[in-house]
Amino acid sequence: MTILVIEDERLLSDSLRELLAQHGFATEAAYDGPSGLEYALTGVYDLIVLDVMLPGFDGFELARRLRARRVGTPILMLTARSGLDDRVEGLDAGADYYLAKPFEARELLACVNAILRRQGAQVDELRFGDAALDLASAELVCADKRVRLSAREFELARCLFSAGGRLVSKETLLVKVWGWESKAVENNVEVYAGFLRRKLAAIGSLVKIKAQRSLGYHLEDGT
Ligand code: CA
Repeated sequence: MTILVIEDERLLSDSLRELLAQHGFATEAAYDGPSGLEYALTGVYDLIVLDVMLPGFDGFELARRLRARRVGTPILMLTARSGLDDRVEGLDAGADYYLAKPFEARELLACVNAILRRQGAQVDELRFGDAALDLASAELVCADKRVRLSAREFELARCLFSAGGRLVSKETLLVKVWGWESKAVENNVEVYAGFLRRKLAAIGSLVKIKAQRSLGYHLEDGT
């Protein structure tokens, strides 16, 4: 789970990210409207925590532009203002939740968890071909065989299974599995794709992980 925090106050941004990290979330940070939008448009985040007052353009504008480009990542909007007009404008712009500053840590965590639960509520496994990815246990399943995945293998499998056979670019995989700030290189993707191929074979699945030279990876139903 990766959360993008768009907040120009460094201290608040740092403390939000620390809090989220303590609860097992990976985070990335942007500190103004334009770069926040650029990050958000990649569509790789599970949630965006978005401040209203930002340099460049504000959080309402950012949410509107994001939704206009059909990026549906859930947005939790933060603001110092708590008037009804702002709340309505935030929701109109495409925010899913709204939290007025100052808020308590557990309030934020409750919101984050509620949004993510709602996102994930309808699926507890992702299926492709003869295989399934069990999201609760982080296992690959084929008929009555199961194999446990490491954290990175699981994130990589989740990206590929979510795409349902469509191509996922190497850049997207690097960001989703390793994060913006990591030094991971494309070779890591190939190494982990190799681990997943072996595990698929170990449970007798005919699903293949195909590499498209220099572009990315996709699943192929070998049945
Ligand atoms: Ca601000």
